[in-house]
Amino acid sequence: MTKYSNNSGIIIIGGGHNGLVCAAYLAKAGKKVTVLEAADQVGGLAATREFAPGFRASVAHLLYLLDQDIRKELALESHGLRMARTGLETIALAEDGNHITIGPDRVDGAGLSAEDRVAYKEYRRFMSKFAGIIGGLHNKIPPRLTPRREDLMALGKTALSIRMLGRDDMREFLRIGGINIYDILKENFDHPLLKGALSLDAVLGTNSAPRSNNTVFTALHRMSGNTGQAAGAVSIPAGGMGAVTEALAAAARKFGADIRCGCPVSRILLENTAISGVQLASGEQITASVVVSNADLKTTITDLLSLRNVEAGFAKKVGDIRAQGNAAKLHLALDSLPNFKGLSPEQLGERLVIAPSVEYVDRAFNHSKYGEFSARPVAEITLPSIHDASLAPNGKHVLSAIIQYAPRQLGQGWNEGKAAFIENIMEVLDAYAPGIRDKVISTELLTPEDIERDFRISGGHWHHGELSLDQFLMMRPVPKSAQYITPVDGLYLCGAGCHPGGGVMGSAGKNAAAVVLAQ
Ligand SMILES: Cc1cc2nc3c(=O)[nH]c(=O)nc-3n(C[C@H](O)[C@H](O)[C@H](O)COP(=O)(O)OP(=O)(O)OC[C@H]3O[C@@H](n4cnc5c(N)ncnc54)[C@H](O)[C@@H]3O)c2cc1C
Repeated sequence: MTKYSNNSGIIIIGGGHNGLVCAAYLAKAGKKVTVLEAADQVGGLAATREFAPGFRASVAHLLYLLDQDIRKELALESHGLRMARTGLETIALAEDGNHITIGPDRVDGAGLSAEDRVAYKEYRRFMSKFAGIIGGLHNKIPPRLTPRREDLMALGKTALSIRMLGRDDMREFLRIGGINIYDILKENFDHPLLKGALSLDAVLGTNSAPRSNNTVFTALHRMSGNTGQAAGAVSIPAGGMGAVTEALAAAARKFGADIRCGCPVSRILLENTAISGVQLASGEQITASVVVSNADLKTTITDLLSLRNVEAGFAKKVGDIRAQGNAAKLHLALDSLPNFKGLSPEQLGERLVIAPSVEYVDRAFNHSKYGEFSARPVAEITLPSIHDASLAPNGKHVLSAIIQYAPRQLGQGWNEGKAAFIENIMEVLDAYAPGIRDKVISTELLTPEDIERDFRISGGHWHHGELSLDQFLMMRPVPKSAQYITPVDGLYLCGAGCHPGGGVMGSAGKNAAAVVLAQ
């Protein structure tokens, strides 16, 4: 028998970090809020999960975007958020052990020319400044394409902030904003490791290569967090990224939100053309006149609402969202720390990247264009258990790595291809850390197909939809939904598929709450 509950408040579908931020702000404003999360724990991609007995890791593993206002306004530190390590440097690994180290204001290592060192400082200067323009948009509701007075003012303010860059920087911003990172790195640097590592920053989480358009934009996006630290500065939360979402959940609960895990929503319910509630997979129906979805737009409209409830033009736009994930996540349970050639024990705890040249990254992508995984993948590696012993049994360690490229649509299918891809990855890792295979107790590789299924993200994409200029600001996720609204009365969006995109930032959730409160 169907169970009916009368909620008379706001339902949030999904307790990813954006859903939790949204819940916290709505509850703080006095609204009755219920979060319905499908998984057994909150956090979505930013949850810390056990992947082997005693070993824990989070899909999103490095923190560099979390908005400082959200952190303060929700008092996340008072809810237990603490960093195990801040200010990680990047070590661009070389197979021969002659690595280079990249920090916010210096680059160091064998073979670096004086010109590259100077050019790096200048690169950081202009990239940080330009990233500030993008960061300035994060906590704003995107203007509409048919602007009203307030939208025109918002557009005017952005134009003014570009003008305020000064003549030379403004020209440079306009020149490079939409082009590819390959050309910019080539203009500025010689050292292959430096170019390789910086190009990786531009393509991580995207379905693009260093020569793809928009990759300067994605590099800037990565540096655009309003974190109060140097642009793109990287931290590791104590307890993994799940500590961020646990703190968000605690804040939301403190303001009165009810968070229910293990409650997949199977349908969004309508009465006439307006929202009337949701149905859970268990059959329970909960009434509500406002539903906010943390799921991506495709999942929300196609799977939960049904395309027949929206007009054909909108349905077509939803279907056309580019959201093919190309990043996989590797978790290794290790018996002891690996020996990376040329790295001291202290350096092992930094952010390690395998992207030895920009051409290597480009070639790694080529396979994915044709439905194949990379023969020689690129990787962003951390060993978080060095900073946080709670993630692994005593003396043992976790290796957490983002691995590209792993196309969502693999020609041979992931059932067939996964083992071979793991073999490619281990071969590459072994070239940098000989003997690492012997230390592996357990391996988990999450492909975009796994991410799509386990985290309910159409395409298994990091940003719930490609991050690019054609899917940004008032175009994200699609023009008629860019202000966290949908064509259905009472149905809103708050996830990474909305402005300003993915990464553990929280701004989409905060902006969505502001829109709901303004209705
Ligand atoms: C491999 C990989 C590595 C990444 N690494 C980093 C990183 O190091 N740093 C970083 O900042 N970002 C990283 N990201 C990106 C980041 O994790 C995401 O952009 C961000 O976590 C998205 O948050 P969200 O709250 O919008 O959505 P999600 O985290 O996807 O949460 C959505 C939630 O909604 C729930 N849900 C969906 N449908 C339903 C339903 N029908 N009923 C109930 N619940 C539902 C899901 O279970 C999920 O919990 C990474 C992403 C990937 C894929």
